[in-house]
Amino acid sequence: MQNPFDFKPADQIQDLQYFGEFGGVNPSISDSSTYTFLSAKTMFDTFEGNAEGCYLYSRHSSPMNLYLGQALAALEGTEAANVTASGMGAITSVLMQLCTSGDEIVSSRTIYGGTYAFMKNMLPKWKIATRFVDITKLEVVEAAITPNTKVLYCETVSNPLLEVADIQALAQLAKKYNLKLVVDNTFSPLQVAPVKLGADVVIHSLTKFINGSSDTVGGVICGTQQFIDDLRNVNDGACMLLGPTMDSFRSASILKNLRTLHIRMKQHSHNAAYLAARFEKDGLKVVYPGLESHPSHMILSRQMNHEYGYGGMMTLDVGSLDRANALMELMQHNNLGYLAVSLGFYKTLFSAPGTSTSSEIPMDEQQEMGLTDGLIRFSIGLDNDIERTYEKMTDCMRQLGIL
Ligand SMILES: *Cc1c(COP(=O)(O)O)cnc(C)c1O
Repeated sequence: MQNPFDFKPADQIQDLQYFGEFGGVNPSISDSSTYTFLSAKTMFDTFEGNAEGCYLYSRHSSPMNLYLGQALAALEGTEAANVTASGMGAITSVLMQLCTSGDEIVSSRTIYGGTYAFMKNMLPKWKIATRFVDITKLEVVEAAITPNTKVLYCETVSNPLLEVADIQALAQLAKKYNLKLVVDNTFSPLQVAPVKLGADVVIHSLTKFINGSSDTVGGVICGTQQFIDDLRNVNDGACMLLGPTMDSFRSASILKNLRTLHIRMKQHSHNAAYLAARFEKDGLKVVYPGLESHPSHMILSRQMNHEYGYGGMMTLDVGSLDRANALMELMQHNNLGYLAVSLGFYKTLFSAPGTSTSSEIPMDEQQEMGLTDGLIRFSIGLDNDIERTYEKMTDCMRQLGIL
């Protein structure tokens, strides 16, 4: 296996040079849903998947979506990638592509609420069952694998509890039992390259850090050329047939934002690390993978590209839902960020995951996982002077008796 630290994804992206149709510095957006052919024979070959470089119909592929896909394949170090209209469009397509009736999935239980709901409530309609496990306990993961298991699923850094998956160890398990290891890397772009650690397929919600401006939803699937071709197959490809197609205008704007991802990730990490360290010193219950007190600190340290730090996500437990709500309202009032779901924005975003993004997970399961009522999830923004932000935040906490 290639040493994951030899892999420099930001350089790979930087080395992609595109010109627009008239010499523009950005590639031209193709404003078409369908494409002409000079010969009928080429159209037939394109349908059969045998006409490299020819476009057929934009649900299959389009020039701008291929550019963005190429840049995201460079980000993850995979042969290819296919962009989708949302992160959920990527996740559902991958699972439908890899599983058939009677198959099983072993998944981390601390995953994005929508993914959890899809596995728990929708996949059983096609007789695909999911066993949810504590992904940090490898013996529990292995015990859940049956002869029907096809997919091992996790998030690199999980939502919202920031548990870290040991991808190298999970990849070994996947190999041993001939499973596909599918990793949602939404929280840690550039920081962790799951395929370099042995994963088979990497998914992102582009909606978050990668796009970074909270103006669109989007997703991507990164994998082998064969898998990406399979997803686009006109006869049985999930992306082609379920139709989660990104619009070319959107992929153009996401590609431009991707060009600054390396700068943004460093600043998100810098700011979150600063706040987490200060809050911990203040005696607050803060969870941040960059803190030595975090149970997964060593696992992440081993797997990550240190240039980008420990990420922009942090949680704070202020003891009760009432206090969490009051603090979030006061912070928004003081322009410290927005009381909103999602993450990766230039402004800080905060929400109470128990009542918002993870509301699909039943109360008793949330408690077992440590998803307490007073938990606030922060996506720390790109604030220029984070000490000033810290002073303002702790001022809000003092006003509410939290500090
Ligand atoms: C937001 C999110 C998703 C879903 O992505 P959408 O773009 O909203 O469809 C999936 N996984 C994680 C970890 C997320 O944060």
